[in-house]
Amino acid sequence: MQPIVIIGTGLAGYTLARELRKLNNDAPLLMLTADDGRFYSKPMLSNAFHSNKTPDALAMHSAEHMAAQLNARIDTHVTVSAIDTTAHRLTFNHQTVAYSKLVLALGADPIRIPVEGDAGDAVLSVNDLADYTRFRAAVTDAKRVLIMGAGLIGCEFANDLRTAGYAVEVVDPAPQPLGRLLPPTAAAALRDALAGLGVRWHFGTSVKSVSRKNGAYIAVLSDGAAIETDVVLSAIGLRPRIALAKDAGIKTQRGILTDNRLETDAADVYALGDCAEVAGLVLPFVMPIMHAARALAKTLNGESTALHYPAMPVVVKTPALPVVISPPPMNASGAWQESGSGADVRGVFLGPGDTLLGFALTGAANAEKNALVKQLPPVLA
Ligand code: FAD
Repeated sequence: MQPIVIIGTGLAGYTLARELRKLNNDAPLLMLTADDGRFYSKPMLSNAFHSNKTPDALAMHSAEHMAAQLNARIDTHVTVSAIDTTAHRLTFNHQTVAYSKLVLALGADPIRIPVEGDAGDAVLSVNDLADYTRFRAAVTDAKRVLIMGAGLIGCEFANDLRTAGYAVEVVDPAPQPLGRLLPPTAAAALRDALAGLGVRWHFGTSVKSVSRKNGAYIAVLSDGAAIETDVVLSAIGLRPRIALAKDAGIKTQRGILTDNRLETDAADVYALGDCAEVAGLVLPFVMPIMHAARALAKTLNGESTALHYPAMPVVVKTPALPVVISPPPMNASGAWQESGSGADVRGVFLGPGDTLLGFALTGAANAEKNALVKQLPPVLA
């Protein structure tokens, strides 16, 4: 019997394998990963500095431990280079392997924007344990970090690194932090809380060039400002890994396209996690992965199961100011209404007929989270 093959041992791949094993401990299972297969919690990468967590401390289990726990074969450091969806075979390291069902849990790549100067190659990003290892090595003897991007990951790193004692500058073309997620008053509360911690903001501008100077770097911004720093961290977003699927003739758009059963347009090929665009939604967060893994495990076990997403608020890991956001659907008609002042802001996004479609809560307003979640429509019915 050909195995079920899962490509990827991130949160998506491992959660799916665990869910499958709750239903079926015998189906042959092969997991393939380009990395070392250690199980870790990726969200901890952006709040591990203040607690001085090493990469080894973040890795909870080795690939061998996971293989034993999941009754699976796990091949590490292998990059799948091709899929033949007709023959149900895939290729890695000049070997081919047959699959009964194939799951793509490939994750996403950090978006890199080209910068001028002789140190563009020194700009780091952190999207996995190996990146975190490199980043920790780079900041070991450093005092100053410049962060490109004031989105979720940029703000979390800013809070974490500042708390750990680094001088932190954040550059973003938007006029506020979390530009796509927070209405203005809530964003101002987060901006002020992090500024109170000592984070220096540079809004409405971007990094034009990064050059080496006396063992450090000079970043020149598009508004002409020059910032001297020891490390540059890029946190400007993620792009789903679609190339492998696209080359195999599987339909892709922003992510690998699937229906609400996580199935691609190729027979017996599924996708979930950061690489997937599920029923039109790209949601690179933990909660969608948990729901998708539970539904897909049932499908792989022979019970075709539709995925439902409830409302899934995202907690921003900025201890300087607790923030929780449930963004309204893309292109939803409606408007934000904000109340409160200072650190405690309640933002609700109201659609037609004053229906609650999203919220953003900061400081003491976080207490309203559970009550508001109950009023939200499901993300995928
Ligand atoms: P990944 O963990 O990236 O796994 C991808 C896997 O695919 C890897 O094993 C890789 O080796 C493998 N792979 C890729 N291509 C190939 C190939 N060709 N051949 C073989 N193997 C391959 N979400 C939240 O909800 N809350 C948070 O607080 C939060 N914080 C975050 C903080 C940071 C710093 C980051 C980067 C993300 C955060 N997220 C958070 C998002 C969340 O962590 C991700 O959505 C989730 O971990 C993605 O898991 P994944 O398995 O889809 O991808």
